[in-house]
Amino acid sequence: MMTRKQKYCLACEQELKGRNDKKFCDPHCKIAYHYRKMQEDNFSFYARVAKQLKINRRLLKS
Ligand SMILES: [Zn+2]
Repeated sequence: MMTRKQKYCLACEQELKGRNDKKFCDPHCKIAYHYRKMQEDNFSFYARVAKQLKINRRLLKS
């Protein structure tokens, strides 16, 4: 099985130089990436709740 190496920084998408087992060009990018991911997770959670609330409201009206 071939393992695909990460060639670009996951946060800023710059080409990675040096050791190619890295995922980020520097620690700041790592923090930024995880922070963004966390925000996205929070967003999808709230989006789900909002959707559920709309459904509940519709049920109450009918
Ligand atoms: Zn980067």
